[in-house]
Amino acid sequence: MQKIVIIGGGPAGLAAARILLRAGGFQVSIYENNDTIGFLNGGFVQWLKGTFKRADDAFTTTIEEMTQLGALIYLNTEVTQVDHLAKRVYVRDNAGHLSYDTYDRLILATGSRASQFPIPGMHLNGIHHAKFYQDAQAIIARRDAPDLKRVAVFGGGYIGVELAEACRAFGKEVILVEPSSQLLTAHYDRPFADQIEARLKAQGIDVQYARIQRFLGESTVSQMVTNRATHDVQLVLLNIGFYPVADLCEGAARAENSAYRVGADQRTSLPDVYAVGDCSASYDKITGEYRTIYLASNAIRTGTIAACHIMGKPIPDTSPLNTTALCIQGLYLASTGLSAAEARAHDIEVNISDLHAKQFPAFMKGKNDDVTLRLVYRQSDRVLIGAQMASEYDITEHINYYSLAIQQNLTVNTLCFADTFFMPHFNQAYNYHLLCALGAP
Ligand SMILES: Cc1cc2nc3c(=O)[nH]c(=O)nc-3n(C[C@H](O)[C@H](O)[C@H](O)COP(=O)(O)OP(=O)(O)OC[C@H]3O[C@@H](n4cnc5c(N)ncnc54)[C@H](O)[C@@H]3O)c2cc1C
Repeated sequence: MQKIVIIGGGPAGLAAARILLRAGGFQVSIYENNDTIGFLNGGFVQWLKGTFKRADDAFTTTIEEMTQLGALIYLNTEVTQVDHLAKRVYVRDNAGHLSYDTYDRLILATGSRASQFPIPGMHLNGIHHAKFYQDAQAIIARRDAPDLKRVAVFGGGYIGVELAEACRAFGKEVILVEPSSQLLTAHYDRPFADQIEARLKAQGIDVQYARIQRFLGESTVSQMVTNRATHDVQLVLLNIGFYPVADLCEGAARAENSAYRVGADQRTSLPDVYAVGDCSASYDKITGEYRTIYLASNAIRTGTIAACHIMGKPIPDTSPLNTTALCIQGLYLASTGLSAAEARAHDIEVNISDLHAKQFPAFMKGKNDDVTLRLVYRQSDRVLIGAQMASEYDITEHINYYSLAIQQNLTVNTLCFADTFFMPHFNQAYNYHLLCALGAP
């Protein structure tokens, strides 16, 4: 029986563990620093919003479930060192006991931490990152405090935007502070991001493009000073990005952000050592750079790839794409690949094809939502490298169609001839995906 050691019980490590245990023939040990496994950060936003009340509902996996599958789980146990030559991991439990374990294959799934930034007043109570279960618990406790009137959310990426909406839905005044000049820059071009900004403002959220200079307060934060104004706030949620936790395997090749560099099969440069999820960086064929995708979907995808490779299954040579979606105040947005702005920032010459359409034929009764679609493709060979969609109709699953098209290096010319269905209950006879591809200049 092969011995597999997994370091980290987040979505990436658990995805790999589940597949190996279901396949059989592997002894799987999971070492986890924290006292929980399976906490889903995406669920935390819904918890904060009040969609559900029980903390347990924010977990996708229980220790019982994994143990029943046969996993050996070591909670509150930190892996402090990896000796890849001796194939050993050294561990320390929270009582300080030191020991070691051996492996045939090692999966590094150590994830990420919230980016830190040195701002005066950061030590004050009431200033939180939103990464771990314990952060979530502290924020929920603060949310329910009677003196909490106004929340500042710093960082206008998809997490910041969702957190701002959640706090507003819970009846708090909210200021969303973004240091650049647009929300959602990692996934969307301005016409899409601006639609979200309008929805947030309509909900009463104060969207500010500003830089935070300091926090003020006695022991708890009471004011936030930006380069534009001073605001009274009683809670601050910070979402300014992540950095990979990748400090265990000294000899492994690293990307620029220090994440473990992996191949399409998630193997690192060290023999029998894999890295998955937020601690890994995969080669992005579009930009030609190693890239970390901080998404649970990618964590599960890469954990699955590593497990399949260990099981001897063939792994296709695909790039990660940063596919994501969100819904703010009834407006659905979805994106995959690069936005036009992001492509141009990488000196890739791109064209765009934009389409505005209705979801249903005019003869259908009831609400007929507008749909906005953008395709981003390389000028040189017309290969699709990105897509974005927005509508009040839930179009989010459509983005997976484009994700697969990009992974398969399809051109917009090929997309014109996709075999799509038409049924008036769902769409129009002149399918907007095909029309957008046909309209590509
Ligand atoms: C507020 C919020 C909302 C989000 N919403 C979404 C969403 O809706 N959709 C989406 O796709 N993604 C979302 N994400 C991103 C997603 O949560 C992460 O990409 C995902 O958790 C990464 O999984 P991972 O397993 O690679 O790492 P992590 O979840 O970071 O887990 C790594 C684990 O390894 C453990 N560990 C680290 N070092 C050691 C060590 N030396 N020894 C033992 N254990 C160790 C850590 O304690 C941790 O539990 C969200 C993130 C946040 C913060």
